[in-house]
Amino acid sequence: MPELPEVEVTRRSFAERIAGARVTAVRLGKPLRWPLGVDPQELVAQRVGPVTRRGKYLWLALERGGLLLHLGMSGSLAFGARLGTPGPHDHFDLVTQRGTLRLTDPRRFGAVVWSPAPHEGAASKLLGGLGVEPFDDAFTGAHLHAALRGRRVSIKEALLGGRIVVGAGNIYACEALFEAGIDPRTPGGRVSRARCDLLAAALRRTLLRALQTGGSTLRDFRDTHGAAGEFQREARVYGRAGQPCVRCGATIRRVVQGQRATFYCPGCQKR
Ligand code: ZN
Repeated sequence: MPELPEVEVTRRSFAERIAGARVTAVRLGKPLRWPLGVDPQELVAQRVGPVTRRGKYLWLALERGGLLLHLGMSGSLAFGARLGTPGPHDHFDLVTQRGTLRLTDPRRFGAVVWSPAPHEGAASKLLGGLGVEPFDDAFTGAHLHAALRGRRVSIKEALLGGRIVVGAGNIYACEALFEAGIDPRTPGGRVSRARCDLLAAALRRTLLRALQTGGSTLRDFRDTHGAAGEFQREARVYGRAGQPCVRCGATIRRVVQGQRATFYCPGCQKR
């Protein structure tokens, strides 16, 4: 599943090239998770503005409104002048003077949704419940600690929920908790302020590293240049059950929390 770093890597791969281009045609494939919400012809002749990211959503500004894009479970975006004839998994083409932006999504949980503005209409509903951005100044240990107060849900699941902070996908949540030395099963409300400081810093560092390595190599993900990221190879606990901890040598364990696999080191990570 494309996570925040992959979405950001994707954004950077085409945002500057598409900005300023005029839309010349729109092609829809099979239905995606949500309907487009506008007559595709309405988009034609509009100029593309900046492409920004909020959580795992991209907002592609147009002269009148914009498109909110989500890659779902298996989506990827490509932008190029010669993408060729759309295949059976290509479900949205935004054709511009400079090239075509194409959403390829075999499982079709992705979406392209029109809205008059990011804070209006369908976009505001989808973006409304999102937590703070991990690279924002607002994301601090104090924020984390305040948001976790009284919560009995495990710290791992609280992070994964996306309402406190966005971007802590499964692999990144596991890695950040390892970095911070926190047992993923600890009730959220029991994590001290000092450890929240460590965790906020660890999550930011983990996501930054993933960004720098081009996103994680999850099976379905290919960035816009067709190259898989390298992050997962660097993971210290994720996917390493039964192997020795790189720090203390204890055996990495796997548990299931909220139907998601969690990997942790029983030696390094404490409640
Ligand atoms: Zn360890």
